[in-house]
Amino acid sequence: MSKSENSKALGPATRGVLAGRREEWTGTPGHPGAVVNPPVWRASTHIYPDMAAMRAHPANVDGNFYYGRRGGPTQWALSEALTELEPGAVGTVLYPSGVSAIAGVLLTVLRPGDVLAMTDNAYEPSRAMGRGLLRDFGIETRWFDPQDLASFEAACCDRTRAVLLESPGSLTMEVQDVPALAAAAKARGLVTILDNTWASPLGFSALAHGADIAVMSLTKHVSGHSDCMMGSATAGEDWYRKLRLRAQGLGNVVSPDDASLMLRGLRTMKLRLDAETASALAIAQWLEAQPQVARVLCPMLPGSPGHMLWQRDFTGGCGLFSFVLKGGTPDARDALIDALDLFGIGYSWGGFESLATPADPASIRTASAWPLAGMDDADRYGVRLSIGLEDTADLIASLDRGFAAWSRHGARA
Ligand SMILES: *Cc1c(COP(=O)(O)O)cnc(C)c1O
Repeated sequence: MSKSENSKALGPATRGVLAGRREEWTGTPGHPGAVVNPPVWRASTHIYPDMAAMRAHPANVDGNFYYGRRGGPTQWALSEALTELEPGAVGTVLYPSGVSAIAGVLLTVLRPGDVLAMTDNAYEPSRAMGRGLLRDFGIETRWFDPQDLASFEAACCDRTRAVLLESPGSLTMEVQDVPALAAAAKARGLVTILDNTWASPLGFSALAHGADIAVMSLTKHVSGHSDCMMGSATAGEDWYRKLRLRAQGLGNVVSPDDASLMLRGLRTMKLRLDAETASALAIAQWLEAQPQVARVLCPMLPGSPGHMLWQRDFTGGCGLFSFVLKGGTPDARDALIDALDLFGIGYSWGGFESLATPADPASIRTASAWPLAGMDDADRYGVRLSIGLEDTADLIASLDRGFAAWSRHGARA
């Protein structure tokens, strides 16, 4: 047994340091000791010493050299590290992006004629798959209110095969009752897929809370440096092998250079998430006290949608959250974002640098109300922040300059 196979009993920070560092991947036969990180094994062709060895190494056994599309030790180390962070998992499949991971999972689980139930606060490209890719393959998607079990039940029929959850969801950040939804899904014989990008396995143990397959965009927290893209799907015995075969059939492969960058990011992920979480919560509390702000949507903040579920089920947070402005116009909101001199304007999140983007859930949702119950109908222009590793006080000062620009623009304060 390798050292790392013992490591599920250890704490998450320790596992994050040890995971995936098997000596067979970090050492060289005949030389004592090993390097710390698995080297970058660039390879398409793996060469066998003779025909007997080729015949003795069937293609589809994990950890066997075969051909570059099945990866090599660098990719295997990353897969193993992600598996070790997820209690109940037996394996992790890597994909070239988070979107390809979601597509790869849906194309493994669903068949023509099936119905997929999808949470209404899912990442917009996931929604687009329902309207496009899946529909083209004869699969119907029905959306449901992220916080309403009855709405989920109503979206199900006898053809429903799977449910796609995302908790907290994109833009509006509602935390879902994953254990309750997964139990209801299981009772109907459905497969529960969870996009766990926000929390990562350090903040939410997806399989232990009932998900069958945990999907993540590694582009965000695992990379942590905004310079690399990848996705993953982690699962137990039921689904891991099917996912791997389908990914192989679709030709999904990730480069060893990128896998090495992801492993580097993974080693500091807990530190970064803890720092971002503390800074984001302080900024969320400051925002809540600003007269221009109607609502702060931050799972770590008391009163935010699903905060009690976050408290019950999660072991950490991250720097991504949204806030909604009181009244105003899209132009005033643009002026606010333009004045955020310490925030980049850009998609994506989870890097060391802070980012801001407009958030307009009303234009996306189809199965649940926006603005949320209790909010003024005029309060609809949102801003999503990804809090990075800058000093919190500097980010607050930058936001203050943003609100000054908003007020100069004549928005109601
Ligand atoms: C970014 C994101 C994805 C997609 O990841 P990519 O690596 O950019 O393809 C999936 N889900 C969520 C929640 C995301 O924020």
